[in-house]
Amino acid sequence: MDSLKSSNLGYPRIGVNREWKKLLEALWANKIQESEFEKKIEELRLNHLKLQQEKGIDLIPVNDFSLYDHMLDTAAMFGIVPKRFNYPGGVVSLSTYYAMARGSKGAPACEMTKWFNTNYHYIVPELNDITPVLTINKPLQAYREAKQKLGIDGKPVLIGLYTFLKLSKGYKSGQWDELIALFLPLYAQILRELEQEGVRWVQIDEPVLVSSLSVEDMDRITHIYKQLHEAAPGLNIMLQTYFDAVEHYEATVSLPVQGIGLDLVHGYDRNMQHMAKHGFPKDKVLGAGLIDGRNIWAADLQSKLTLLNTLSQYVPYERMIIQPSCSLLHVPVTTGQETKLGSEIRQVLAFANEKLDEIVLLTKAVADKDSEPIARELEKNQQALREINASSSRKKEHIQEMVERIDQQPSARAGTFAERRILQQNKWNLPILPTTTIGSFPQTSEVRQARKKWRTGEWTEEQYKTFIQEQIRLWINLQEEIGLDVLVHGEFERTDMVEFFGEKLGGFFFTQNGWVQSYGSRCVKPPVIYGDVEFIKPMTVEETVYAQSLTNKPVKGMLTGPITILNWSFVRDDIPREKVAYQIALALRQEVEALEKAGIEMIQVDEPALREGLPIKRQDWQHYLDWAVLSFRLATATVKNTTQIHTHMCYCEFHDIIDSIRELDADVISIETSRSHGELLHSFEEHTYDHGIGLGVYDIHSPRVPDVKEMVHMIDRSLSVLDPELFWINPDCGLKTRGMDETIASLKNMVEAAKSFREKS
Ligand code: GLN
Ligand code: ZN
Repeated sequence: MDSLKSSNLGYPRIGVNREWKKLLEALWANKIQESEFEKKIEELRLNHLKLQQEKGIDLIPVNDFSLYDHMLDTAAMFGIVPKRFNYPGGVVSLSTYYAMARGSKGAPACEMTKWFNTNYHYIVPELNDITPVLTINKPLQAYREAKQKLGIDGKPVLIGLYTFLKLSKGYKSGQWDELIALFLPLYAQILRELEQEGVRWVQIDEPVLVSSLSVEDMDRITHIYKQLHEAAPGLNIMLQTYFDAVEHYEATVSLPVQGIGLDLVHGYDRNMQHMAKHGFPKDKVLGAGLIDGRNIWAADLQSKLTLLNTLSQYVPYERMIIQPSCSLLHVPVTTGQETKLGSEIRQVLAFANEKLDEIVLLTKAVADKDSEPIARELEKNQQALREINASSSRKKEHIQEMVERIDQQPSARAGTFAERRILQQNKWNLPILPTTTIGSFPQTSEVRQARKKWRTGEWTEEQYKTFIQEQIRLWINLQEEIGLDVLVHGEFERTDMVEFFGEKLGGFFFTQNGWVQSYGSRCVKPPVIYGDVEFIKPMTVEETVYAQSLTNKPVKGMLTGPITILNWSFVRDDIPREKVAYQIALALRQEVEALEKAGIEMIQVDEPALREGLPIKRQDWQHYLDWAVLSFRLATATVKNTTQIHTHMCYCEFHDIIDSIRELDADVISIETSRSHGELLHSFEEHTYDHGIGLGVYDIHSPRVPDVKEMVHMIDRSLSVLDPELFWINPDCGLKTRGMDETIASLKNMVEAAKSFREKS
């Protein structure tokens, strides 16, 4: 290499107008033929490459595109298809590929899980009894396509062997060597063929290198890369890491590869410390991940130039590449369509396309220090940042002062749980094993249509409000009829549990087209927190109080917790995340207090996303958990002892964070359990849990109506490890995606099951 270069690690698949999503769904619904699908998909793929070419990116990734997910692609490339899909061998057909992703008659889909700490979900390969083969060299195919059709000398991307194995399932830890031996020849063949084709750089993604790996892991990785280097010595391998700093820096940078890609945004501090201490090898290229691939804000280009200058002390520019911190898969496509946002905000947004512009601009700025037009661009960037930082939305002094002295804010309930428990028992006088639900009831098409009519102005505010009240009334009556003890209003006014609060709190905005892929064709449009978060007026009081007016049973208020709001949004990056969490917590505290004042004295604060915010590295867990727990407590601590705080979590991997869960000091927690009941109970054998707790007694992800016996069995087993005096009976999660009839039938059975226990005791 002769001079500083620019690169990209991956481009969003979904298209400016989510064309990709629409094509996939049209194919699944048999609305288009496979041939037409392939043709249109190719067009999209080539357009994405062309765009990067036109922007002037030197190293353009190919094979980052996918028809669903890149882990699934890798499994399919190796012919790894579970037996239940009746795969005949050879290149995996499109229908088998989608059957693995989505399930088919008689064959449940492969498991899907989160890609590291992102909101992207990948399909988990199943490695039991496999004989992997190379059915097709997909990176090579992608390279040829780009070369022949666009004259692009692309950089094939593939998932590294160790990351692939680590993220798969269906093997035991004793099988590492055996598995590596099975796959190494296949990876070697891919690389050899790329080398023969004349490929210059290949990007091998090994994000597991930033996780808490053992020395044995590192030895295996070293073995793998020695072998691969021998197989294709003429090929340049960029070993790409992202989402945090490399765990074993010295061992990693000593691997026999030609380039190391480091995340200098999310792994900034530690990667820089490593470099300062150990330097960077003289024979390697540094892929400097300078531009945040996880967030939507324009970079501070001046400070990036300063950083580049620092980096050049370790690596000369001739051996450096400027690139995003990770694939741009995790950000929306372009800000070009955000026409409704004011210029103050628009000019500090950078989605994928704008991030590529930043990369190219930085590359040029280093090469041509005296260029006037570049200086002007840089000044524009600085001016935009100055403006937003000086804007009144980021200058709410009363909020900032409270957050600066957060330890002075109340974060503990007046009484201990033991004291509260007695007071609450007296106040509420609930039967043993009280029954309740998680909050939402079926959002029928009627509900969705009503909201649409209201949003488009077809319905007046008044009409919509009346409609919502009818729904609430209907469900309060139904809940009484079913015989539940603690009722809810049903959340009919909410599409999404974070969006609803984001629209009502200050400091948020919503994009028009800021979609990102969550899993398969499913995209989400996260709210954006750009300013100081502020309570403006009560958000849930009206509906809850209305519901309470219809019944003598307690109605539980329903809020989304600070950490879930934080983790499901794009968050400003000018202040630490924990401070944003405190701001949200303080705003929610006002809502909690407003509910209490209005007579709602059971309040649930949902934190389904608490666990998913855990940092990748184990050593960082405690710090995160500490501020997450504090945030929850800030939101809930000021209520009376008799007011009962509930929380809910959609997972049961509990054992490793149980101390923090206990520290939330919620009076009652409900947890999703039914699909891993045994596992969870096991963790309660080892760790005591001494607050109120409801283990979901039936799976809400399926329309099946569970019978009384099944639930009795679940309860029975739960009570063998948990105190019946503290036990609650509830479904696994909210019922918003279920139908009316099945919901009513299931809840009736649930109440029946609870009653049969009460009679016994
Ligand atoms: N209260 C929410 C509901 O019932 C909780 C959803 C969730 O935990 N994801 O829908
Ligand atoms: Zn849930």
